[in-house]
Amino acid sequence: MVMRQGSNICMTQDKYSLLVLRLEDITEDVMEHSWNVPEELFECDDNPLPVGGTTNLHGKIYKLGVNVHFRGEVKTLLRLKCSRCLKQHKSLVESPVEVSFLPIDSINPGTEELQLGADDLDAQLYKEDEVDLFPAVRDQLWLAAPIKPLCSKGCRGLCPECGANLNDENCGCKNVVTDPRFAVLNKLINKDKKQE
Ligand SMILES: [Zn+2]
Ligand SMILES: [Zn+2]
Repeated sequence: MVMRQGSNICMTQDKYSLLVLRLEDITEDVMEHSWNVPEELFECDDNPLPVGGTTNLHGKIYKLGVNVHFRGEVKTLLRLKCSRCLKQHKSLVESPVEVSFLPIDSINPGTEELQLGADDLDAQLYKEDEVDLFPAVRDQLWLAAPIKPLCSKGCRGLCPECGANLNDENCGCKNVVTDPRFAVLNKLINKDKKQE
């Protein structure tokens, strides 16, 4: 399997070249492979996925006629902000990745719109002699990232009165409301007050 690596990945002609595979290297026999994707590869995006370490991709790839199929798993650490206490932390995110690549010239030029069936939601078109696993990997990680990240299951959040991080200290305020959403709000309000 061909892997190209450059020190300045975003500056290379194809910024995602590490996960670009040449068709001639893919066989009809299933091949198993692992990739260690450096975090810089994700920084090339306009809205970069906040990866905090090497991303591991592992999977099986094979050709079936002109189509290429990949099925595997991706695992990475994401830098996230706790939705209760706002602390930055790293969280392990894992997701299956499944993608099929169809040659762009297999689409009938007479049809204006690409007609993919419901089973082909994870299908991508490829041009010439290369398929690129990166977009599928990145999209799956975005989908797998928690909407409300937590630094730990038992995170106690912020004090809604004074904004203290209740994981670190017991501020002693009364009327502690347990809804962490208000705590975040109060922290912002208190911050504004301090700045005035
Ligand atoms: Zn937290
Ligand atoms: Zn307090």
